[in-house]
Amino acid sequence: MRPFQYNRPDSAVRAVAAADAGTQYLGGGTTLTDLMKLDVMRPTQVVDITGMDGQRHDFIAWDGKALRIGALTTMAALADDNDVRRRVPMLSDALWLAASPQIRNMARLGGNVLQRTRCPYYRDTSYDQCNKRVPGSGCAALEGGVTRSLAVLGTSPSCIATYPGDFAQALIALDAIVEILGKGGPRSLRFADLHRLPQSRPDIETTLQQGDLITAFSIPDADFPRSRYLKVRDRESYAYALASTAGALRMEGDTIADIRIGLGGVATVPWRAREAEAALRGGPLNEARLNRAAEIAFAGASATEHNKFKIDLGKRTMVRAFTEIAGMEG
Ligand SMILES: Cc1cc2nc3c(=O)[nH]c(=O)nc-3n(C[C@H](O)[C@H](O)[C@H](O)COP(=O)(O)OP(=O)(O)OC[C@H]3O[C@@H](n4cnc5c(N)ncnc54)[C@H](O)[C@@H]3O)c2cc1C
Ligand code: SF4
Repeated sequence: MRPFQYNRPDSAVRAVAAADAGTQYLGGGTTLTDLMKLDVMRPTQVVDITGMDGQRHDFIAWDGKALRIGALTTMAALADDNDVRRRVPMLSDALWLAASPQIRNMARLGGNVLQRTRCPYYRDTSYDQCNKRVPGSGCAALEGGVTRSLAVLGTSPSCIATYPGDFAQALIALDAIVEILGKGGPRSLRFADLHRLPQSRPDIETTLQQGDLITAFSIPDADFPRSRYLKVRDRESYAYALASTAGALRMEGDTIADIRIGLGGVATVPWRAREAEAALRGGPLNEARLNRAAEIAFAGASATEHNKFKIDLGKRTMVRAFTEIAGMEG
């Protein structure tokens, strides 16, 4: 690991004031220290945000249908919250199925949504070609590498790295808002606008500005008892999604009144299947319509030899998730 300055401010305002161009915030450290040890991330200053303002950034609060969550809340705390499990099980599932108990106890939700790709060529500096790690160097994955875990949606000729997190698919499906404290003061952003497609600059992963600190997430309409997160992976625990679906449903009689679909493991950014939602909304929920919507969701997919299985797997995961959700009470 390279030398760096360590700073632990006692307020969010001081954290933002301390942040300079070489700064990374430290939440649970489960992504940051990992990548620093691998020499992939090289901050000159680490600003530890876990000492900010006592408990002010670690909370879960309901106000009617709206849910607000502090960015320093741990994955474990949100996964375990009884109201969240009852009122929006998808959020809880997405966190329960992620990582390991030790990591969930350490990792904070702000850091969770900003975790980096697990593309093996990004994490291994012995590979020279990685446009995400070294802009303009090429892409070892696309130039003869193994692409089995990589994305089929939202890809570009520069990068096909998968966005790896699970929680983000639930946030995007729920139209979450990200609350930010930046150099210019507080502001908010749609979660859907937080992550950038790789296009020609896969190294620029978010729309955050230098020094921006995520302080909270708010979800104006989070009451979806009929919701779940279905994750398909190589083994039953401690593995990233090959394909996942964050699904939420509201029925009026036999008609779909509201449906939300977030897709994970298959895309370069947290992925909302809006066209598939539109195809389903206003009609009945049955297998034929679900299959058609899944085709729509993956119509723009582009795959390589190793990861083309993800197109079918992604469709089947989506159909199965909603088949299971249809059977839930709500
Ligand atoms: C072995 C292993 C398995 C895993 N499996 C899964 C899995 O199956 N599914 C899954 O979703 N995740 C998985 N993870 C990833 C894990 O969930 C993330 O590492 C974790 O959630 C990151 O949170 P953190 O608080 O530790 O972030 P940190 O490592 O502290 O920070 C991550 C990044 O976010 C920035 N940051 C942190 N907080 C803020 C903030 N409030 N505002 C602005 N920037 C901030 C940091 O500067 C850094 O760049 C796994 C991790 C490991 C090590
Ligand atoms: S897919 Fe993206 S992260 Fe992976 S090697 Fe290519 S440029 Fe790097």
